[in-house]
Amino acid sequence: MPVNIVISGSIDMKGVIFDIQRFSTHDGYGIRTTVFMKGCNNACLWCHNPEGLDKKPQLRIYPVKCIGCGRCETVCGNGLDPGKCNSCGKCAAVCPSGAREMCGYELSSTELFDVIRSDLDFYKNSGGGVTFSGGEPLLQADFIAETSKLCRDAGISVGIQTAGNVEWTEIEKILPYTDFVMCDFKLYDDEKHKKYTGVSNKMIVENIKKLGNVDGIKLIIRTPVIAGVNEDDAENICKIVSGLKNLDYYEILRYHKFGLSKLENLNMKFGREFDEPSLECLREFKKTAGKYIKKVKCDPLEEGE
Ligand code: SF4
Ligand code: SF4
Repeated sequence: MPVNIVISGSIDMKGVIFDIQRFSTHDGYGIRTTVFMKGCNNACLWCHNPEGLDKKPQLRIYPVKCIGCGRCETVCGNGLDPGKCNSCGKCAAVCPSGAREMCGYELSSTELFDVIRSDLDFYKNSGGGVTFSGGEPLLQADFIAETSKLCRDAGISVGIQTAGNVEWTEIEKILPYTDFVMCDFKLYDDEKHKKYTGVSNKMIVENIKKLGNVDGIKLIIRTPVIAGVNEDDAENICKIVSGLKNLDYYEILRYHKFGLSKLENLNMKFGREFDEPSLECLREFKKTAGKYIKKVKCDPLEEGE
């Protein structure tokens, strides 16, 4: 399927980011810089990056780092009451120990490009590049497209990690500058999808099918397996995934509970704890997937964890 090149907005747009991880090896091919964009339009109850949900910068507190200097109290107009906190950032600005910090900041596309290209040699030697993740990076598709164009012009490979719940017109903006897309397919049943992620999967499945026909990009479909939620979905999901022309591989991810501690630091009341799937459950999932798809990855099994 041919893709039209569409970039709107001005040159050197601003994007909202909550983290940049260098030397990532689990976000596509080779050694990569992973850029985590802030803001998401899904609400997966198991989210392991809850700091990516809200697009606005927010206060994050690490009580264990506090040295009791009292500076935060002198600047907060809300008495440090978590219920009244508006994430103004004044306390973080004066905190000397990093116990209070702001999560999320703006960067322009050229500023971000400068960070990304500092590891050019590593990308070249490993077949790596940059991966935009989140949050949902495609909620900032114009910014991603502009930054990706700079990267591609410099010979840097670009990958996108998305939950796929955006209009196709947003996806089209980034495709001309993208080497691969990693898209989640979390649950087959739409009612269950709504219950656990807050949104329907109809647009997601349509987008996955369209992505499967785009010329010149590799497609990776990923399912995070959560015990008691989607461990029986392998057959239905993989029947659809097996028909995707561009599929490079299908990846099974193991749910873990890391996101829960972040919720406390961010003072967020969201999500809940699920059971992690056993290795046996992952093996079964992979075995079923393998009936339909040639290349199936599941790192916990390959690493023998
Ligand atoms: S970020 Fe919240 S706690 Fe910190 S000064 Fe502002 S209102 Fe007070
Ligand atoms: S400014 Fe930071 S280190 Fe000082 S009391 Fe507040 S949180 Fe603790």
